[in-house]
Amino acid sequence: MEVITKINEMQTRVLSVRDRKKSIGFVPTMGALHDGHISLIRSAREENDELVVSIYLNPTQFDNSDDFDKYPRQLNKDIEIIRKENADVIFTPCTEEMYPDGFCTHVTQDKLTDALCGGVRPGHFNGVTTIVTKLFNIIDPDRAYFGQKDYQQSAIIKRLVADMNMDVDIRVCPTVREEDGLALSSRNKRLSLEDRKDALCIHGSLQKAGAMFASNVRDAKDIVEEMTSVIKKTKQARIDYISIVNADTLEDLSFINGRALAAVAVWIGNTRLIDNTILE
Ligand code: AMP
Repeated sequence: MEVITKINEMQTRVLSVRDRKKSIGFVPTMGALHDGHISLIRSAREENDELVVSIYLNPTQFDNSDDFDKYPRQLNKDIEIIRKENADVIFTPCTEEMYPDGFCTHVTQDKLTDALCGGVRPGHFNGVTTIVTKLFNIIDPDRAYFGQKDYQQSAIIKRLVADMNMDVDIRVCPTVREEDGLALSSRNKRLSLEDRKDALCIHGSLQKAGAMFASNVRDAKDIVEEMTSVIKKTKQARIDYISIVNADTLEDLSFINGRALAAVAVWIGNTRLIDNTILE
């Protein structure tokens, strides 16, 4: 396995893979890897000849400098995890490499980026669309793997590749959870023992949504109300948003009559966690 930090070296490697007519699978990450990332890496390993995993903590997608400063970093451990998964390349550039002096071009998207997290994290998704475009241009993958845990991100990226005619197949893999239901997240590392218990209200609220939908409740306001009351039982949890949206357009729904997404963002102490479930 090769660890590459320079863009030109990565591009040379990609050219040699293309010369050999091999397919490239790509898993972009910000590091602090857990089993959620590993599930993407394994899917990519199975479906492609060459597997590239990137580790890059992209500063432009952080709307809060405290979140960026406190984001867990464990590059050496991550390299070992990826090595065990039999990847071919880790691409881990530095910020001077990705955003050199004079950098002033950004990729922005309308509509899908206004909903859910877009409403409360200004600029976040522009950072995501810009870095993903750069990584796709450098790595030229056949397939790229994203997690359903960040549902809005995957919807935005599917739209990005369609709108910009990028020849990349976007694969969305299921959310990996702890046994008690908490979605794995690099930010979980920041939770205290008490926070960790409190964080369960997030999954509890989504289960409530799923159960109401299964018993034929279709009024989104009723479901949101019940989800809110589940979360409010945990005194330390602060709701950022609870929304039921059309799973394709991410537009708010008042009545569910197609594929819908129940999405939640909650502050547990100083850590903001997100999760979602599909209602269909
Ligand atoms: P991140 O390092 O947080 O940017 O995440 C890298 C990729 O891993 C993204 O596509 C995430 O959606 C995905 N991911 C993060 N957590 C999970 C999880 N619990 N299950 C599945 N995929 C995940």
